[in-house]
Amino acid sequence: MNKAVFLDRDGVINRELGDYVKNPASFLLNDGVGETLRKWAEDGYLLIVITNQGGIAKGLYSEKTLHAIHEKMLQLLAQDDVTLTAIYHCPHHPSTGECLCRKPDSLLLEKALARFHIDPAKSFFIGDKERDILAGLKAGVKGIRIEPNAPLSDINLYNA
Ligand SMILES: [Mg+2]
Ligand SMILES: [Zn+2]
Repeated sequence: MNKAVFLDRDGVINRELGDYVKNPASFLLNDGVGETLRKWAEDGYLLIVITNQGGIAKGLYSEKTLHAIHEKMLQLLAQDDVTLTAIYHCPHHPSTGECLCRKPDSLLLEKALARFHIDPAKSFFIGDKERDILAGLKAGVKGIRIEPNAPLSDINLYNA
């Protein structure tokens, strides 16, 4: 079985702007993220992003734009020799309909656990909102709540 660090995106990997990230230009990597993720990867953790992107349901940006934003994220992380195992997003929003994949629901997390043979008990979910922690809890993954844009280098997985 593998172990993983699951990551919320906005406010954890990139700057929480208080608005949706609607284009690649608004995607700004937080300081030191690449270095910390590389260290965790070297410790054997898969790195998997699970993000709510309700701006798609609201028509604020398209799936294609989200893909371009994530390409930028992958390129920036690659500069620090970081490879993400997978990125899962929920494109829905309660204002336009229900779904099972939007955090605090745990469907995306459970898909990732199954697909990559991950032991939830050895894994973590790092997020800046209560819904991130709740999604982790539902799937048996320990949550680590941080303040938006707080440095990941402050997190000690072995002491969490
Ligand atoms: Mg967030
Ligand atoms: Zn959804």
